Amino acid sequence: MKGMDLLSKKIALFPGSFDPLTKGHVNLIYRGCTLFEELVVGIFRNTTKNPLFSMDERELLCKKVTRTLQNVSVHSFADSLTVDAVKQVGATHLLRGIRNASDYEYERDLARFNQELSEGFDTVFLFADPSLGHLSSSVLKEIHVSGGDVSAYLPDEVYRMLKNK
Ligand code: ADP
Repeated sequence: MKGMDLLSKKIALFPGSFDPLTKGHVNLIYRGCTLFEELVVGIFRNTTKNPLFSMDERELLCKKVTRTLQNVSVHSFADSLTVDAVKQVGATHLLRGIRNASDYEYERDLARFNQELSEGFDTVFLFADPSLGHLSSSVLKEIHVSGGDVSAYLPDEVYRMLKNK
């Protein structure tokens, strides 16, 4: 891999909007932190989606939910480019999840753009756990706003804050 030192510490950045963090994201974090020496959960603003939780709330929730994982840290990057965040944390890899065919196509193109924007890192994809592959933050928000119960799909800390919204 051009520009990547084979001996360097393997640090993954898991970027997303996490608005809010779902059990699908948590599953990816648990699996990712066994693959890399360090895993940084990077919270980004996502200009194409209307946020429900503020950046600070998302960061706080991600920190609470991952507090027992020794090699996981959480950082907000607001409007930064993902590749700039990669450089900032010294990441060797980006971690992303694939739930279905549309994620695959979207993620493939995004990985290509990131590779063209910068080099020295690679993107690693994990397939969603089959029992969680239908979860997305936006669908869960819609169900909640319409009065549906989404407690089974969210970490307890996240559900508690959602109820208070
Ligand atoms: P973004 O707006 O950048 O896609 P998200 O917070 O929606 O941010 O998702 C962040 C990453 O987590 C993406 O790679 C997405 O595919 C992955 N992801 C989201 N939901 C799940 C899930 N249920 N299972 C596995 N991966 C998921």
